[in-house]
Amino acid sequence: MSRLRSWLWQLAGGDAPYERMLLAELLSILGEHAFETHRRAAQTTRQAFSELSGQAQAGELDGIIPFVRQQRRDEQQFVEGHLNDLRDLAWRLLSALSRVAQGEVQDDAALRQQVQQLTQQTQRPDALNIQTLRQTLQSLTSLIEQREQRHRQTLNQLQGQIHHLMRELAQARRESTTDPLTGLYNRRAFEETLRHTVGLNRLFGYPATMLLLDIDHFKQINDAYGHAVGDAALKWVAEQIVRVCKRKSDFAARYGGEEFVIILRETSLRDAQKIAQQLAEQVRKSPMSLSEGEPLRLTVSIGVSELQLHESEDEWLRRTDALLYQAKQAGRDRVAA
Ligand code: GH3
Ligand code: MG
Ligand code: MG
Repeated sequence: MSRLRSWLWQLAGGDAPYERMLLAELLSILGEHAFETHRRAAQTTRQAFSELSGQAQAGELDGIIPFVRQQRRDEQQFVEGHLNDLRDLAWRLLSALSRVAQGEVQDDAALRQQVQQLTQQTQRPDALNIQTLRQTLQSLTSLIEQREQRHRQTLNQLQGQIHHLMRELAQARRESTTDPLTGLYNRRAFEETLRHTVGLNRLFGYPATMLLLDIDHFKQINDAYGHAVGDAALKWVAEQIVRVCKRKSDFAARYGGEEFVIILRETSLRDAQKIAQQLAEQVRKSPMSLSEGEPLRLTVSIGVSELQLHESEDEWLRRTDALLYQAKQAGRDRVAA
């Protein structure tokens, strides 16, 4: 028996709860950062990892290794395939450009020759022959037309490729700022918005408030129901956030694990406090239904603060985090502002 197999066997035997938890957490992390491959959509992979994580926690370890191995291969294939596509595209764009440039040089030489002939003809009016003049003009016109046609063709080809590339880039950009599990913005997008918000406040005094929200006793939910339900709870809380923060300018992101951050622009502290209360109440009053058993009741704690003049991004975030900590200390399921 290989070392890995015998280790898995011991794990399944139930005398290694810490290792099982570690494995479950690792699988959950792999799922969290899943991306689309040739085989599966990111969402499907995330779901599969989440289920495996639940199984690992329960000591059912069959199928984990083949799945992870296959997934890793798929990812490698996918990334390599895309890199090759990109290289190919860059090469095609460059060779199209170089064709245009080459054609241009040849055209220019031919044009120059025709113009030279024309000049010579006009310099010797005695030898001016309408017939040859017409011929020269005709070949000039046809040269120019050919050149135009080639340009149009190249442009059409390039346009198709550029459109394709732009669509891919737009998609990649969207994905790079979205949290795949909840569909909210991710931490990276939050950091950018935080920078803009503080910048606008410094320049024009635009007010803004921040809500930092953390699910209460989330670890217990994971422990009691497994990671799949934990993930569903994260999605569910994200839905409640979207429901309560409905203004177009409201910005909501998953900050990490089971923490969310919301930036409300042009909103006073008093209004932000009301929104936070509403959100906490919404979460408290609408339990999440499960496929079996009693619906799951969740609560959240929220820190709320208004951006102060001359405050840095870090200071504002830390101040809000301290308020969240206060809300936790005061007994959870509440708002501190
Ligand atoms: P508190 O009320 O003090 O916030 O308690 P808590 O248990 O919520 O806080 P703690 O920070 O100790 O635990 C957070 C847990 O959230 C730890 C981790 O297992 C879990 N977690 C973090 N990210 C994810 C995720 O993406 N999916 C799932 N299912 N669980 C996650
Ligand atoms: Mg936390
Ligand atoms: Mg928590």
